[in-house]
Amino acid sequence: LFVDESLREGQTIPLERDKAHYLFGVMRQAVGDRVALFNGRDGEWTAEVTLAGKRNGVLTCLGQAAPQLDPPDLWLMFAPIKKARTDFIVEKAAEMGASRIVPVLTEFTNSERVRVDRLQAHAVEAAEQCGGTFVPEVAEPEKLDRLLDGWDGARRLMFCDEALAGENKPLSGAAGAPWAILIGPEGGFSDAERKRLHGMESAVSVSLGPRILRADTAAVAAMTLWQSALGD
Ligand code: SAM
Repeated sequence: LFVDESLREGQTIPLERDKAHYLFGVMRQAVGDRVALFNGRDGEWTAEVTLAGKRNGVLTCLGQAAPQLDPPDLWLMFAPIKKARTDFIVEKAAEMGASRIVPVLTEFTNSERVRVDRLQAHAVEAAEQCGGTFVPEVAEPEKLDRLLDGWDGARRLMFCDEALAGENKPLSGAAGAPWAILIGPEGGFSDAERKRLHGMESAVSVSLGPRILRADTAAVAAMTLWQSALGD
């Protein structure tokens, strides 16, 4: 269960209605039961249910069960698409260990209405589901041009370009170096965007194979490729 509070021995964690309903109503936990907790900073902790009400509850931290495991410094930057598919991308990025998720507004991005709070909640659920101790931050949407204006060349960019179909370049780099993956919208990148990205010294243009993948499929394929070449 994800909580905001710092986790240390004896710390009490008050539970609000939603979490109390989930733990005591859905998961049928009761006073004395043990619950695994994380807050994204302090690793995994074991806590005991010390109060179980219908609308509230209290957990008391007993001890750390596992140390904090942070993901590699990998951002997933993608142009938002339809709601369900955007949710899917955020969920999979959190499961696969992105450290930051950035919705990027490109020239052909259709769907600019992004509810960051909803996406952040999806990232929390994904981390809870896969037993992680880290939750990636979902950033506010940013225009691609502005993002590239301030790009720090120290972070390498894996630019997934559908126009490269089949021309694969190997991904290589120092272990632990910061990276960002960039996935375009359903309409692809504009010529100007493509030109700019191809001209960036810190960008590597990557093909994900000879077929045009949907953006959500491309995000998962790109993260898998990165993980296989550069992950730990
Ligand atoms: N409208 C574009 C077209 O027909 O050429 C397709 C865009 S695709 C649905 C969405 C994004 O997924 C692309 O901008 C790219 O970042 C990524 N993508 C999809 N297939 C890819 C491939 N084979 N290689 C590299 N990137 C790919």
